[in-house]
Amino acid sequence: MKRVGVIGGGQLAWMMADAAQKLGVELVVQTPSLGDPAVSIAQEIVFAAVDDASATEMLAKKCDVITFENEFVNLDALSVLEKQGVCFRPRLEALTPLLDKYHQRRYLSDLGLPVPQFFAVDRTENLKSKIEYLGFPLVLKSRRHGYDGQGTFIIKDFAALEEKLSYETITKTANQSLFLLEEFVPFERELAVIASRSVDGEIVTYPVVETQQEQQVCRRVIAPAEILPDLVAEIEAIAHTLLNSLQVVGVFGIELFLTADSKVLVNEIAPRTHNSGHFSLDACETSQFEQQLRAVCGLPLGNPGLQRAGAVMVNLLGYENSDSDYQSQRQQIAEIPQAHVHWYGKTQSRPGRKLGHVTVLLDNQSRKQAMAVAQTIESIWYPTKFLRNF
Ligand code: ADP
Repeated sequence: MKRVGVIGGGQLAWMMADAAQKLGVELVVQTPSLGDPAVSIAQEIVFAAVDDASATEMLAKKCDVITFENEFVNLDALSVLEKQGVCFRPRLEALTPLLDKYHQRRYLSDLGLPVPQFFAVDRTENLKSKIEYLGFPLVLKSRRHGYDGQGTFIIKDFAALEEKLSYETITKTANQSLFLLEEFVPFERELAVIASRSVDGEIVTYPVVETQQEQQVCRRVIAPAEILPDLVAEIEAIAHTLLNSLQVVGVFGIELFLTADSKVLVNEIAPRTHNSGHFSLDACETSQFEQQLRAVCGLPLGNPGLQRAGAVMVNLLGYENSDSDYQSQRQQIAEIPQAHVHWYGKTQSRPGRKLGHVTVLLDNQSRKQAMAVAQTIESIWYPTKFLRNF
């Protein structure tokens, strides 16, 4: 029996529960609040913020290996533990270049992987010429702690940029830059792939999916993406290069842009399981969560293939401040043929908060049909005024 420590107790840790049971693994979770989703499934909890390294020291005493469901950790403090022999998977060195979005872009471009043009906002002198070079619109991103589009801003002109980047931010933070600026990519589609690497260096990739974001938050995922095999091969090669270079043990999510002229650019790497892989819970022989546990426990990786022709996953996002459990909407969605509803058990709903998701298995790979199913789900879930036209 293995005991796996998980830093972070959100829905990504909660969704490890079935796989843990299947593999005979116990989960010990470090998370701050009693109301966090994974509290209900953990064998033991260390109640503490994810960046509290002294809590992680306690966590380490309770388990054989530590993995991450949340990367907003204090790497410097954790590396002291790693030096003392605590086993982190992925190892901390694999996370080091990724936690800051600017460092991540640098790492990817140094590896020769395609990324949007970017630069750090660290000096006033060059800023103007760099901005003129990129042109508007451009994208401003917080270098750290961004998620679900928090910290990502599409900027239309100088006035909007100045509003976001106050004079003070630019000048007083000097070389300790907080932001990165990058070209706005007028992508044709967004794609993603989940990849996993084992202790022995074996790599498996899940089917490449299409992801659809609104206001920078993932709304739906279509598996597999309707793209040519050459493009799939190119994306798989990117995943191999990255995971091998970082010597990852565990699961990574890789988000990409596909441009109108069929160029692929890497947008972002998540050093953990990812929303774009949730379909794998119901649609694949081995879910991304089982894969994560297999990798970190040193087990052989499982088959990531789809068991059905396709699947569509729709996030159930909060659209109001409420403590409702939305029982009747969930019930109606569950009645859709081949629908699997996952409800994270959060006690508070807020606009944009991920409360659950639903995956519907499909007997064909028609994007049109996947979109129609997504529309049915969203028209049940969202009140009319929150629905956009498909
Ligand atoms: P987060 O880390 O918060 O998920 P991302 O950097 O992944 O933020 O951005 C969220 C979404 O914002 C993307 O999925 C995409 O829709 C949009 N976006 C981000 N960067 C760019 C860009 N350079 N060009 C165009 N759209 C972008």
